[in-house]
Amino acid sequence: MVLNTSITYHDGQLTVDQHAISTIIDEVGTPTYIYSLPRALSNYAQIKAQFEAIQPHIHYSVKANGNLAVLRALIKAGAGVDVVSGGEFFRALKAGAKGEDIVFAGVGKTPEDIRYALENGVGWFNVENVDELDIINQQAQAAGVSSVKIAMRLNPDVKANTHHHIATGHGTAKFGLSVAIIRDILQNQTKYANLRFAGIHLHIGSQLQDTQATLQALQSAIDLIRPYPDIQTVNIGGGIPVAYRPDEQLPDIEQFAALIAPTLQPYTVFMEPGRSIIADAGVLITRVLYVKEQAGQRIAIVDASMTELIRPALYQAYHHIVPIKQTSAATVPTQVVGPVCESTDILSQEVALPIDLKHGDLLAILTAGAYGMVMASTYNARPRPAEVVVDVDDSQWSIARRRETWDDLVKQEE
Ligand SMILES: *Cc1c(COP(=O)(O)O)cnc(C)c1O
Repeated sequence: MVLNTSITYHDGQLTVDQHAISTIIDEVGTPTYIYSLPRALSNYAQIKAQFEAIQPHIHYSVKANGNLAVLRALIKAGAGVDVVSGGEFFRALKAGAKGEDIVFAGVGKTPEDIRYALENGVGWFNVENVDELDIINQQAQAAGVSSVKIAMRLNPDVKANTHHHIATGHGTAKFGLSVAIIRDILQNQTKYANLRFAGIHLHIGSQLQDTQATLQALQSAIDLIRPYPDIQTVNIGGGIPVAYRPDEQLPDIEQFAALIAPTLQPYTVFMEPGRSIIADAGVLITRVLYVKEQAGQRIAIVDASMTELIRPALYQAYHHIVPIKQTSAATVPTQVVGPVCESTDILSQEVALPIDLKHGDLLAILTAGAYGMVMASTYNARPRPAEVVVDVDDSQWSIARRRETWDDLVKQEE
């Protein structure tokens, strides 16, 4: 189901934990993201429980949702952090992460990013280019750091069963390195005096539906590192899928964990979940501007758009949409669109909404906590939305990022 223990109706009102969304919106306006920190922490705990057999160290993937309040809550709960840029590294430190608890992945790290990470005691580099090793080695030398932990990112050349825009593990993807190249590096590792090749890294895509591809990738990683006893850490990346549709069937994660546990038993295991921690903890609240009938279809124009949530336009992603006030009114198939001047600015091609939907009504776009605000833009000079969090103990809600203003949009140009 797309509603959950934190985001559900109470007395006919959609709530985030104990807080009625309509009350929050009265104060904050629309469009606004609201995140349930209790839900994020319960997802974190659930992943730990599901994978208990392999005792993973969880590094939350900042790129899914980097709001400082979200990061602070997860770091406080014991999560490490996975970053893919210098900016995300900075964000993680701001939120209280220790450098040693940060793993730094990314196919295009700049020398400045690398230097910054080294100066701040980065835990691991997940490395995706041969020349990157030279740069890390030189920068480590210059910064006087030795034994920098390296996990080579394997491109296992498997086809993940996910949308092609979020698959990363096929041979021609820009991510990772092939088995042959990594084997060659490991055979010549002594040429990198300041590096310690201590891990292997895999991340074959997001929203992975097919555990078979992951298993196959994992097996090739294990075969690759077997001759190198110094490699004791296996980072299996992220990719745990979440349900976006009401009746979506997901793979059995506990069964998957049981399946990979024997292979991973000799190793320290890292995981990098992003979506599975924060997606269903977040909603994007929007207000209906207009409703019109066109070519036999009902269209609702709302005040959120692809600039707040680009996933439908970018990946043809589905997001379920429900009214804030529960109603027994009959429903009509409705296309929900934003005001941006692009034909792809469609939030839902078709969703059942009440027949009496009208100007001013509030709608919740569900499962919007991951890859939502982090991809927001200001196209069409639209200020980015506010973000609200419900506290870890559910006692109160607060604004975790204020809404941008028109002044914010021009101030770098003045
Ligand atoms: C995006 C990403 C993740 C997180 O993926 P999810 O599908 O959100 O769990 C983990 N690791 C790396 C290297 C990534 O790029």
